[in-house]
Amino acid sequence: MNIISTVAEMQAEASRLRAEGRKIGVVPTMGYLHEGHASLIRRAKEICDVVVVTIFVNPTQFGPGEDFDRYPRDFQRDSEIALKCGADIIFRPDKQEMYPEGYKTYIEVEDISSTFEGKIRPGHFRGVATIVAKLLHATHPHIAVFGQKDAQQSYVIRQMVHDLNFDVEIVVAPIVREPDGLALSSRNVYLKNGQRASAVFLYKSLQHVENRVKSGERSVAKLRAEMEEILKKGNPTQIDYVAFVRPSTFTEIETIETPEVLIALAVRFGSTRLIDNIIVSVV
Ligand code: AMP
Repeated sequence: MNIISTVAEMQAEASRLRAEGRKIGVVPTMGYLHEGHASLIRRAKEICDVVVVTIFVNPTQFGPGEDFDRYPRDFQRDSEIALKCGADIIFRPDKQEMYPEGYKTYIEVEDISSTFEGKIRPGHFRGVATIVAKLLHATHPHIAVFGQKDAQQSYVIRQMVHDLNFDVEIVVAPIVREPDGLALSSRNVYLKNGQRASAVFLYKSLQHVENRVKSGERSVAKLRAEMEEILKKGNPTQIDYVAFVRPSTFTEIETIETPEVLIALAVRFGSTRLIDNIIVSVV
């Protein structure tokens, strides 16, 4: 496995691979890899010849007072996992390489960046869109694989790729969960014992709403109240939002509608913020 840390070297390698007719897949990550990331790397390997995993804890997507400094990092372990899952290249630039002195350009995807996650974390999606654009320019992939775990993020990226005519196909892969339903996240290591046990209520609330929609409930107000009741059993410090949106536009709905609804939530346990979501087919 090749480890590359400069944009120039990564671009030269991508050009060389393309000239050989090889199909490049990229999996952008902030490292501290877990089985969720592993599933994206394996998916990329199934559909591409060469897989690049990017590892960069992107400072511009963290707000002031968020966990940039304490975000977990373990490059040795990450490279072992990436290798085992079939990655060919790790692109691992440092902050200076991505945002050198005098850096001025940012990408703003309007509207979607200021709702739900974007409302709670102002500037977050500006940072995400900017770094993903830069990583796509550096790795020049045919396919980029993201996780459904960050549902709104994948919507922002699809919009950016469409609007700015990036020549890349975006693939979104399903959420990988712990046996008890908690979605895997690099941030789960922050959870203290009691909080880890309480965190199961996120998925329980999503399963509940799925069952209720399947059995015919159509009132979002009613479903949201029921979900919040379940979430509160875990004594969260705060429920940031419980969102019911159309998956195709990420716009809010008041009544469950066909063909699908996406229910997303963000909950805090102490200073740890967890997100999760589910897509329910409605017939
Ligand atoms: P991160 O390192 O948290 O920025 O995540 C990198 C990529 O992995 C993003 O596309 C995430 O959506 C995806 N991802 C994170 N957690 C999971 C999970 N539990 N299942 C599937 N994909 C995930």
